[in-house]
Amino acid sequence: MIEVTDVNKSFGNGAKPVHVLDNVSFRVKKGEIVTLFGKSGCGKSTMLNIVGGFERADNGDVMHDGHPVERPTKRCVMLFQQINLLPWRSVIKNVELGLEEEKISAEEKKERVMDALKLVGLEEHLNKFPHELSGGMQQRVAIARALAIQPDVILMDEPFAALDSFNRYNLQNELLRIQEKKKTTIVLVTHDIDEAVYLSDRVMIMSSHPGRIFKEISINQMKPRDRTHG
Ligand code: ATP
Ligand code: MG
Repeated sequence: MIEVTDVNKSFGNGAKPVHVLDNVSFRVKKGEIVTLFGKSGCGKSTMLNIVGGFERADNGDVMHDGHPVERPTKRCVMLFQQINLLPWRSVIKNVELGLEEEKISAEEKKERVMDALKLVGLEEHLNKFPHELSGGMQQRVAIARALAIQPDVILMDEPFAALDSFNRYNLQNELLRIQEKKKTTIVLVTHDIDEAVYLSDRVMIMSSHPGRIFKEISINQMKPRDRTHG
C-alpha cells in the first residue's frame, strides 16, 4: 500500500518559487494499477519521483506499507520513457545488473533473470546487444530488469511513449499478464488516455499550476481484460 498524504513541492527558492504539487493525497492498494494523468508540466514526474524516494517533498508524507519513504529502495523501481540499457552489455547481462547488489546465490540470480526474461518473451535473445534489438525489445529488457528485482512497486513514467502503436499494444498486454501473475503495485504516468483506461484500475486526473488531483475515475468494470473474462 502506498499512502501519499498532503504532499507539497515547490522548485526554486528565489523570489518566485514554482509551486508544483499542492496538497496531493492518494492511496494505491497492493496489486492495483493506478494512472496519474494530466497536462505536460502538471507535476506527474515530480510526484512519481517523490513516491519512489528519488526526490523529497517539501512537506507531507509518503509511506510504503506503513514505512516512510526517505530514499530509493529495491522494493520500488522506476521505468522511464528513455530506455537506459548499457550498450556494451548483452540482454542477460543488462538484466543481471538489477541484481548486482542482491545477496543471493548465483543460481537464484540466474533463475530470477531467466524468469524475468521469459515473462517478457526474450528468452531467445539472451546474448544479443541493445543495438541488435528493436525499441520495443529494448523496453522489454528494461522491464525484465525491473521484474528480476521482484519489487513490490513499479513506477512507470511514460514507459511506452517512444514505441510504435504495435509494440506499445504488445507491451501493454504483456504488462497486464505480468501484473496478473505477480500482483505488483504499479503507478503509471501517461499522456495517452487510451493507455490509462486500458491498463489501470483507477485514473487520477491532475490539474496544473499547481498540480492537484481533481478527479479520480475508477475503471475496474470497463476494462477490456475483465470483459473478456466475464
Ligand atoms: P510532462 O508530462 O511534460 O513530463 P510532468 O507532468 O511530468 O510533465 P514535471 O516534470 O513533474 O511535469 O514538472 C512539473 C513542473 O515542475 C514543471 O513546471 C517543471 O518545469 C518543474 N520542475 C520539474 N523538475 C524541476 C527541477 N528539478 N527544477 C526546477 N523545476 C522543475
Ligand atoms: Mg514527466
